[in-house]
Amino acid sequence: MILERRAVEPFFKNGFVIGCEQTREGVVIDPGDEVDELLAAVAQHELEIVNVLLTHAHLDHVTGVRRAKEVLRVPVWLHHADNHLYEHVVQQGQMFGIRVEPQPPIDHFYDGGGPLSFGRYQVRVLHTPGHCPGGVCLAVSREGEKRSTLFVGDTLFAGSIGRTDLPGGDLDTLLRSIREVLFRFPDDTVVWSGHGPQTTIGQERRSNPFLI
Ligand SMILES: [Zn+2]
Ligand SMILES: [Zn+2]
Repeated sequence: MILERRAVEPFFKNGFVIGCEQTREGVVIDPGDEVDELLAAVAQHELEIVNVLLTHAHLDHVTGVRRAKEVLRVPVWLHHADNHLYEHVVQQGQMFGIRVEPQPPIDHFYDGGGPLSFGRYQVRVLHTPGHCPGGVCLAVSREGEKRSTLFVGDTLFAGSIGRTDLPGGDLDTLLRSIREVLFRFPDDTVVWSGHGPQTTIGQERRSNPFLI
């Protein structure tokens, strides 16, 4: 799988481009302020992006949606329970003293749909609320292979968990999402978080101070 990660100030939120090395189809995950770097990675790999997938609607994960849509002209997906947050992205910015442009409406909500795909890869969408109501994790696997790579947004970090003090956050719900959804994956499953370095399910199961 082609995988590129970019992060810029002020939030150093990870945006991702992932693609099928055979068909060159791909998706963009959580385009934020680093959207131009993500678009450059798309061009560099000569990928044809088929969808923009959002893990949740906090401002750092969505401020690049408008630009991504302008250039890529593909649908944007979100969990419906985060649409309220998404529609108030300008107000989210005001909370942090940051001017944020309004973003174009969401095209599709994940609910009820089957897995999404790009090239030879499938994306399973797992609802993992707690950090916010509509948080999801994306489990990406290659056709015919069991192993998944997880893109978990701000649900789980290397050595930490997502904050639950923002509107719609709930600690018990978050811990349940991590234990009942993410910890079902095998220990060697690679986890890419919305901030910071990659980790694995096994590493967090063994040593994450919020979970042991
Ligand atoms: Zn967040
Ligand atoms: Zn974030």
